[in-house]
Amino acid sequence: MAFLALRGEPIGQLDAVLFDKDGTLSHSEPLLTRLARARIDLCEARVAPERRLQVRELLERAYGLEGDRLHPAGTTAVASRSHNLISTATVFCQVGLGWPEALRHSEEVFRCTDAGPGEGQTAAVALPTHGLERLLAELDAAGVVIGVISNDQPAGIERFLRAHQLQHHIRGIWSADHQPAKPDPGAVHGFCRQLGVEPAACALIGDADSDLAMAQAAGVAVALGYLSGWLTPPPLEAHYPRIHHWSELTVLPVIPTNGSAA
Ligand SMILES: [Mg+2]
Repeated sequence: MAFLALRGEPIGQLDAVLFDKDGTLSHSEPLLTRLARARIDLCEARVAPERRLQVRELLERAYGLEGDRLHPAGTTAVASRSHNLISTATVFCQVGLGWPEALRHSEEVFRCTDAGPGEGQTAAVALPTHGLERLLAELDAAGVVIGVISNDQPAGIERFLRAHQLQHHIRGIWSADHQPAKPDPGAVHGFCRQLGVEPAACALIGDADSDLAMAQAAGVAVALGYLSGWLTPPPLEAHYPRIHHWSELTVLPVIPTNGSAA
């Protein structure tokens, strides 16, 4: 347990901080953009030539691809693999395929791209957001439980943490394989039970309104928006406190005496 401060102002006495991964812990945009492009290329090849441009444009919109950027609240950025697969199958239907065929094509395309960029060598791994290592080390040293709550698969979360030697700071993960998954507030409750902490003694940090609304509905002490994980800052609702750089979040060395952090 520790007192945390945002830009020097106490925000609470907290037992745990739960972090989203994509766009919060990790700069996932370059890899997710390549993943979306690879899926589009494979989908395009599965339809008649006269339908290819239409499939490409529909998938770009469905995935939230805007040139070389991803919409930070778009499907590729926020949604789980299974939701992305359904949106892909829906695009196949929009160009005339029946649902069984659309689903089969989507499943085959997703299987082909599951290994991610870097196939044949070590799979590419996203970089951590700037200043993350310092923050995790500081929280860990202060006795704050650190968890990762993400809609990525467990292997993707663990690969990212291991690649950057962050895994020893992390007490647990709640992935797309856990039930319920984000953004059900039950995901926070289940994760808190797993970690042995109370939601009311946790902060949750994410880059999507769905993360922060889930946190509030679950009764966490503070929901914080992280803005620097994407080229285009995520369009978060204005009432959430924002973090632009991890240096803004610190452990207070002494307990405040004015009671404002209690
Ligand atoms: Mg995210």
